Amino acid sequence: MEKAIKTYSLHNFRSIHQISALPEELIKDIDVVGRVLPFKTNNYVVDELIDWRHPESDPLFTMNFPKREMLFKKHYATVRKLLNANASQEIMEKKIRKIRLSLNPNPAGQEHNIPYLDEIKLNGMQHKYPETLLFFPSQGQTCHAYCTFCFRWPQFSGMSSLKFAMKEAVLLFKYLSIHKEITDILFTGGDPMVMSASVLESYILPLLKPEFNHIRSIRIGTKSLAYWPYRFLTDKDSDDIIRLFEQISNSGRNLSIQAHFSHPVELSTEAVRQAILRIRSTGAQIRTQSPILRNINDKSELWKQLWRKQVDLGCIPYYMFVPRDTGAKHFFELPLEKCWHVFRKAYHQVSGICRTVRGPSMSDHAGKIQILGVQEIKGEKVFVLRFLQGRNPLWVDIPFFAEYDPKASWFNQLKPAFGEEKFFFEVGNGVCVF
Ligand SMILES: *Cc1c(COP(=O)(O)O)cnc(C)c1O
Ligand code: SF4
Repeated sequence: MEKAIKTYSLHNFRSIHQISALPEELIKDIDVVGRVLPFKTNNYVVDELIDWRHPESDPLFTMNFPKREMLFKKHYATVRKLLNANASQEIMEKKIRKIRLSLNPNPAGQEHNIPYLDEIKLNGMQHKYPETLLFFPSQGQTCHAYCTFCFRWPQFSGMSSLKFAMKEAVLLFKYLSIHKEITDILFTGGDPMVMSASVLESYILPLLKPEFNHIRSIRIGTKSLAYWPYRFLTDKDSDDIIRLFEQISNSGRNLSIQAHFSHPVELSTEAVRQAILRIRSTGAQIRTQSPILRNINDKSELWKQLWRKQVDLGCIPYYMFVPRDTGAKHFFELPLEKCWHVFRKAYHQVSGICRTVRGPSMSDHAGKIQILGVQEIKGEKVFVLRFLQGRNPLWVDIPFFAEYDPKASWFNQLKPAFGEEKFFFEVGNGVCVF
């Protein structure tokens, strides 16, 4: 019972039969905004996740379909005007590139995390925390559908050849053999699960050899369980994927699927249930994470349901992220205080089994910073923060304080509390002062 994926983007989304029932203005908005933001959806999301009785307020519709409010008014007007005037492709592309560049396509200084091997810059990797290497296989730089809030959007591109992948793999193995401090490799993207089983094997199987015994965890960051669970069930190489997962577990290593689930509806279908069971039967663990987003999941009730449902299915709640300052951020962003309230209210209502989740967390230049809460200390209202991950591991787990700011939505808007000039990790070249 192979189920074929059918993807939709700008050139064919009008053929989705549910679309024809939408008001013409909404359809036009998809066409306009989809020129700037990533736009791709598929038959599973359309047929099984979106509730078409009220698409305008449907969270999965909002996650996949561009909307007018996701662009600033002036950008929307510019693109719409060009479209109406039938502007040439050249002019269109130039304008769109300019708009995209103004939307902070590379947030939080990720450039700084790219490592070197001698003189060679390893563009497909990020090495920020000593124990974990992020690897972006070039064939994994797309997804089964695109999230309108995505911060990885500039890297979505065409596929590269297998030959190129082999070159990449050689560099990866060389880097790993020199860096014995690395215990975890995290395959990420895009979505590595868009790759065929054979490409995935070409990256992973060599890591199971004794020379890479320092690699203890193989992690795969993926949204495929939410957007295309058939990847693990009925795609033509699904069985090979499952066998590869078994091989990893049998090698004595940990295989962790870092699954992105942003809304309980993504956990509601029989297909996702079966896919989770099948992955877990290989010995793999599934850890879950998502950003907290206005217009998608900014209610504690939804997070409570997410975490509970995940635990029902044997997944481990892992991170709640604050969305990065990029793309359609103004449409999705929430004040940090609100993020914390949503987290806290949901956390109250679940048992310790669900409380493996940590957040809300901001992946800033310095590290992953968790908002522990708002508190008043000797008459001054402050945010209490800590690093979950730090560029310098010695920073981790030390509480620190920022001035309360009800509007702040990212760390760079916060100032140290109590009249201090700098945060502790900014003092003395960032060397830990404790
Ligand atoms: C989140 C992240 C990791 C993994 O961190 P864990 O807390 O171990 O899951 C690694 N590298 C970067 C750049 C990250 O943002
Ligand atoms: S699945 Fe992940 S990488 Fe792909 S569009 Fe969504 S958030 Fe971005």
